[in-house]
Amino acid sequence: MARQKYGQNFLVDHHWQKKIVDLFDPPNGFAEIGPGKGALTRLLAERFKNFVAFEIDRSLLSHHDHQKNYKVLLMDFLKWDFCLNTKPVENFSLIGNLPYESGSAIVLRLIEHIDQVVHFVFMLQKEVVDRICASHGTRDFGSFSVLVQGQFDIESFGPVPPGAFRPAPKVQSRLLRARRKLKEKRQSSSPEYFDFVRSAFQHKRKTLKNALKGRYPELEVLLKKLGLKSNCRAEEIPLDLWPQLFIGLTRREL
Ligand code: SAM
Repeated sequence: MARQKYGQNFLVDHHWQKKIVDLFDPPNGFAEIGPGKGALTRLLAERFKNFVAFEIDRSLLSHHDHQKNYKVLLMDFLKWDFCLNTKPVENFSLIGNLPYESGSAIVLRLIEHIDQVVHFVFMLQKEVVDRICASHGTRDFGSFSVLVQGQFDIESFGPVPPGAFRPAPKVQSRLLRARRKLKEKRQSSSPEYFDFVRSAFQHKRKTLKNALKGRYPELEVLLKKLGLKSNCRAEEIPLDLWPQLFIGLTRREL
C-alpha cells in the first residue's frame, strides 16, 4: 500500500527507470534518496558498490533484505548531516525519484551543502524543474532558478507522464541532472546572498526598487550601470548580474 504522506509514487516504467540511472555518473560516493521498493536501487546495485539509501518508511525495508552492494539507512533525508560514519562526505552525489512534497526542500538542502555535493539526478514534479531551469525574462524565473543555476550546470529531460508511476500522480514529472560548477564560476552560497536574492523576488510583480522597499538608495544608478532599466523587475535580471547587484548594493564581498 503506497503511503501518500511520504509521496510514494513508485516508478514502474522500465524506460524511465533505466533513463534516470543512465544519466547518473557519480565521480565518488553517492546515496539514493527514497529507495522505496527498489526500482532504481536494483539497477544501481548492478553498476555500483558501497552506496547508501535513505528511506523514511520502515515498512519498505524488507524490500532490501540481503543486499550486498548497498545499505539502507532508515531516516529522513532532510535531517541528514552530510556525514557518513561520522566523516563529512566529499564530492558526493545523489539520485532519487523524489517524494513530490519534499522535492524543492531537498534541492535547497543540497545547495546549502554545495561544498560537499558535486552531482545529482532527480525525478521531480515538472513545475519544480521548470522553475529551476527557467531563464530570465520568463514567468518561471525566480529565486530558486538563481540559487540553483548559480551553483550547478543543469539539464532537464522529459516530460515523464503520470502513467509511469503507481499510483499515478496528478501532475507530470521531469528529470533534472545537475553538475556542480567549477569554483571560479560558482556564485556565493552565503546565507546573506541567498536572503538578498529571495527578498528581491518576494514580490515578483513589483519593480525591484519597490520589492526592496527603497532599502538601497543607489539601486537606480547601479541598475543603469549594469545596462538594466531603472524600473525593471527581478525576473528581468540575468543570472550573471545577481552577484554584481549584491556586491554593489550591500558592499559585501562574496
Ligand atoms: N525510488 C522508488 C521508486 O522510484 O519507485 C520510490 C520513489 S517514491 C516517489 C519516494 C520514496 O521516498 C518513498 O519510498 C518514500 O517512502 C521515501 N521518502 C519520502 N520522504 C522521505 C524523506 N524525507 N527521506 C527519505 N525517504 C523519503
